[in-house]
Amino acid sequence: MKSPARFKDTEVFAYNVRDACVIHKLLIANRGEIAVRIIRACAEMGITSVAVYTDADRHGLHVKKADESYSLGPDSLAGYLNIHRLVNVARGAGCDAIHPGYGFLSENPQFAQNCARRGIRFIGPEAEIIRRMGDKIAAREAMIAAGVPVVPGSEGNLKDVDEAAVLAEKIGYPVMLKATNGGGGRGIRRCDDEAALRHNYERVRSEATKAFGSTEIFMEKAIVNPRHIEVQILADRHGNVIHLFERDCSIQRRHQKLVEIAPSPQLSEAQRREVGELAVRAARAVNYENAGTVEFLMDADGRFYFMEMNTRLQVEHPVTEMITGVDIVQEQIRVAAGLPLTYTQDQITRRGFAVEFRINAEDPKNDFLPSFGRITRYFAPGGPGVRTDGAIYTGYHIPPHYDSMCAKLVVWAMDWDSLIRRARRALGDMGVYGVKTTIPYHLEILNSEAFRQGSFDTGYVDAHPELTDYSVRRPTRELAAVIAAAITAHKGL
Ligand code: ADP
Ligand code: ADP
Ligand code: MG
Repeated sequence: MKSPARFKDTEVFAYNVRDACVIHKLLIANRGEIAVRIIRACAEMGITSVAVYTDADRHGLHVKKADESYSLGPDSLAGYLNIHRLVNVARGAGCDAIHPGYGFLSENPQFAQNCARRGIRFIGPEAEIIRRMGDKIAAREAMIAAGVPVVPGSEGNLKDVDEAAVLAEKIGYPVMLKATNGGGGRGIRRCDDEAALRHNYERVRSEATKAFGSTEIFMEKAIVNPRHIEVQILADRHGNVIHLFERDCSIQRRHQKLVEIAPSPQLSEAQRREVGELAVRAARAVNYENAGTVEFLMDADGRFYFMEMNTRLQVEHPVTEMITGVDIVQEQIRVAAGLPLTYTQDQITRRGFAVEFRINAEDPKNDFLPSFGRITRYFAPGGPGVRTDGAIYTGYHIPPHYDSMCAKLVVWAMDWDSLIRRARRALGDMGVYGVKTTIPYHLEILNSEAFRQGSFDTGYVDAHPELTDYSVRRPTRELAAVIAAAITAHKGL
C-alpha cells in the first residue's frame, strides 16, 4: 500500500488543512482553560476560532482570545450541553469543525452524530466508537476479545445486590462498584466486605443516576495499592496507530487526578514497552481514530489491567506534549481533516520528565471545598521548562457553576530531581490571590519523601493527611509585594 503523504513543515501543513481538507473555521464547544488551549492551536494553524459562552462566562478568557464568539444564553449549566444550539451556532458562523474539549459533550455520541449529519467535522472518533467505549462493560468485552488483560469482574451489569454479593464472594474482597457509564471519578466505591457492599450498592446506583442518567453498575476486583498508568494514543483514518508513551496519574483524591507525570517514574523500560503495545492493540481492536487515552491499573507485581478508554482529549495531555514535543490538539485537527498523522511510531521520542499540577480554586485545609470568587491578583510563573494553561486573570471572577480547576501548571526538566526543584520554583513563582488554591498543597506533595522517591500509588493522598498541615505563608508575601509597590509608587518610580 502506498503510504500517505506526510506534511512536516508547519506552513505546508497549514496550507493543506486550509485548502485541501477544509478546516478553515472551528467552533470550540467548551470553556475555561481547555477552550483557550484549543484556540491557541487554531491560531498556530491559521484556523479561525469561534468561542461560545453562557452569561456566567461573559468575561471568560476564551471569549477574549477567540477570533469570534457567540452567546449561548443565560443557562449556565445547560448552555454547553445544548447539542442543537451548538451545531446551529457552528453552521450559522460558517464553521467546518467543532472541537468538544473534555467534559461536557466530549463523550456524547449524539453530539458527534449530529455534527456529522449536519456536515460539521467532529474533532474526535466516530459516534459508534464513543458509544462503545463510553460503556465500560462493552469496552471490557472488546478488550477481552482483543487479548488485552482486564480487571476480573462482572460479565455484565449487576441485576441486584444479592447477585452482587454472590459475585463478590467469588471474585474475593475488596471489590469496586462502578457506574457503567461513569467518568470524572464519580460513581465508584470500594467495598471491603459484604456489609460495605450492601451499604454502597444503592449509593453507587443513585450517584450513577444523578451524574450519568443511568442506573447501570458493575463490579471489578479492587486492585490493591494500584498505580494509575495511562497511554496517549493517536490514530488516523489511514490505519496509522501510535502511542506517545504513558502518564502516571496515581496521585488522586476521590478518584480524581491531582498531579500527573510523564513518563511514569515507576516503570521499567520493559514495562513501558509492554503498556504502550497493549494500548496500541486496544486502539486497533476498536478501529480507533483521533486522540484517545487507554487507562490501566498496575498492581504491586507490575501487571497491567485495562480500566477504560477515554475517547477525547485528556486534561493532562500537556505532560505528554512536553516530553515528546508533539502538539496533540493540532494532530487531532489534522486527523479530523482526513490528513495522516505527522509522525510514525519510530519518530516519537521522549526527553526528560514533565509534571502537571491541577490548580483548583479549592481550600485543601477545608476538605478541598471550592473557593470561588474574584482573583484579586494573578501572576503566571515562567522561566525555563514552565508552561501555564489557564483561564484566569487579575480581576476575573471564577463562576461557581463550573469546575474548580482554573489553571494547570506544567513543568519539564531533564531528570526527576531537577524536575522537583524546578516544580518547587515554579509553584513558588505562581501567584493566585483572592481565592484559596491547591498551590500550597502541591508544594507539600513535592516535599514528601514518597514523591521525591518517585514511588506512590492511588492511596497516596489518603495516606498523607499531613499534607494539609502547611502554614499559609502567601499572605505575608503578598503583603510584602503590596508594601514594595506602595514604596515604588510613593517614590514616583
Ligand atoms: P481526565 O481528562 O484525566 O479524565 P478528569 O476525569 O478529571 O480528567 O476530567 C474529565 C471529566 O471530568 C469530564 O468528563 C467531566 O466529567 C469532568 N470535567 C473536568 N473538567 C471539566 C470542565 N472544565 N468542564 C466540564 N467538565 C469537566
Ligand atoms: P472514571 O471513568 O471516573 O475515570 P475509572 O474507571 O477510570 O473511572 O477509575 C478512576 C479511578 O478509580 C482509577 O484511577 C483508580 O484510582 C480507581 N479505580 C477504578 N477501578 C479500580 C479497581 N478495579 N481497583 C482499584 N482502583 C480502581
Ligand atoms: Mg478514568
